[in-house]
Amino acid sequence: MGTVREIGSFELLQSFATIVIFGATGDLAQRMLFPSLYNLDADGLLGTEVRIHGAARSKLDDAAFRDQVAAALDSHLPEGQLDATVKARFLDRLGYCTVDVDTPADFECLAAKIGPAKGAGVAFYLSTPPSLFAPVVAGLKAVGLTGPATRVAMEKPIGHDLPSSREVNAAVAHGFDEDQVFRVDHYLGKETVQNLLVLRFGNMLFEPLWNSQGIEHVQITVAETVGLEGRVSYYDGVGSLSDMVQNHMLQLLALVAMEPPASYTATAVRDEKVKVLRSLRPLDAATANTHSVKGQYRSGAVDGKPVAGYADELGKASDTETFVAVKAHLDNWRWKGVPFYLRTGKRLPMRHSEILIQFKPVPHSIFSGRGPGLEANCLLIRLQPNEGMSLSIMTKEPGLDRGGVALREVELDVSLTAAFAGQRRRIAYERLLLDLMEGDTTLFVRADEIEAAWTWVDSIHDAWTSAGVIVKPYTAGTWGPSASMGMIERDGASWHEGAQ
Ligand code: NAP
Repeated sequence: MGTVREIGSFELLQSFATIVIFGATGDLAQRMLFPSLYNLDADGLLGTEVRIHGAARSKLDDAAFRDQVAAALDSHLPEGQLDATVKARFLDRLGYCTVDVDTPADFECLAAKIGPAKGAGVAFYLSTPPSLFAPVVAGLKAVGLTGPATRVAMEKPIGHDLPSSREVNAAVAHGFDEDQVFRVDHYLGKETVQNLLVLRFGNMLFEPLWNSQGIEHVQITVAETVGLEGRVSYYDGVGSLSDMVQNHMLQLLALVAMEPPASYTATAVRDEKVKVLRSLRPLDAATANTHSVKGQYRSGAVDGKPVAGYADELGKASDTETFVAVKAHLDNWRWKGVPFYLRTGKRLPMRHSEILIQFKPVPHSIFSGRGPGLEANCLLIRLQPNEGMSLSIMTKEPGLDRGGVALREVELDVSLTAAFAGQRRRIAYERLLLDLMEGDTTLFVRADEIEAAWTWVDSIHDAWTSAGVIVKPYTAGTWGPSASMGMIERDGASWHEGAQ
């Protein structure tokens, strides 16, 4: 294992010296992983001994691979962020090995390439199609590339339902113990998502009200403006529920709803998250239509530009949902009776992710008279694109109040982008890759969380089948089928659709 080094305010403990990126020629690696590793190098966070090997099916030598990564850095890092000296140093760390998972000899070749450096720790990052996770682990194990000085990170999705996720987790467990497994949900690498824990547990203000006595409901929205975007083979048959809710949105829900962990450590945080996921009330045929809506976009306009419908992009009719809204309940003491409305979709009017906490109204208003009455407080946490939060509070409008006190709702608005304007916003993967090298699993998803999330998502798929729920069309550039508005409005609430 690597030695202890101190760089700036960071202390790198036992940071692994070799990273192997499987799927190194793919989109995620080129667009996110290599630019993130470059940024870590630029900040002095990769020790001089760190080597990065790419592995994929393409037949490339080291030089051709370096050229490919150099081009990826040029395309995907903002102008001015590339420094010629750092770039040369970074490219120098890179090597490449052709590995087709169906060819056992290729793994021998990888083992030879890593050589004695294995003793200083190897982290494997699987950025391949998920169907390859199990075969890659088997291939690594066969050539002795698993064991105490190794770790494995893998992208979502882990399986496509509970049984298949269990199979993947079991296959990975053949090569790696759970504390060596880093399941990536890149939302957890985002500053604003980590900030949820600081907001809740670093301030006295909110936690006493953070329960069914103080909160009326919670909304979580992840809206995209993009459509299928070439993901045809992956997306159709998967849909928004599996693609977005099972992972990113349930992770957000878990962070909003969890009990305070005893410490900010992997076991404490993940123990509390999994309890939330296990408290999710399953949907069934009786609640499928009242507690969920699935939709699919048809042609319309986004950002003023005409766009085709999903079936037209796909070239055939499909029952895959590109929009889903779910009313979730947590059957536990803290959240009894508080709905969590989750909503995500493609081809919505704007790209944004946000969490809205709707507090309860005051029990009795002492004010009467002019203007609007008392509005209940509302906390809006903006995750992207403009990170920040605003808290709506009631104030008195200035005046002599001859006809009664005039009330006005105003916003306490904090822009995190502005508050930390001088600091570079890091790519979520920078944080996750650094944590992987250092062996900190706090921001990675444990096997039991994945399985609890699939258990709930499977209940919705089953409920849709038993109740015969079909996709409802919505026009691209709108907020999904009107049934989604109906679902929340029946409870006397409405979706937050504010511009950012
Ligand atoms: P991709 O562009 O299709 O790349 C797949 C990579 O896997 C390529 O490097 C490919 O190598 C390699 N590969 C395919 N078959 C192989 C085989 N039999 N043996 C060895 N290598 C093989 O996929 P991606 O978009 O980067 O996605 C990678 C992973 O990240 C997936 O699990 C995906 O679900 C997840 N993910 C991606 C994104 C994203 O934004 N792209 C976001 C979230 C999660 P060759 O090209 O050399 O054949």
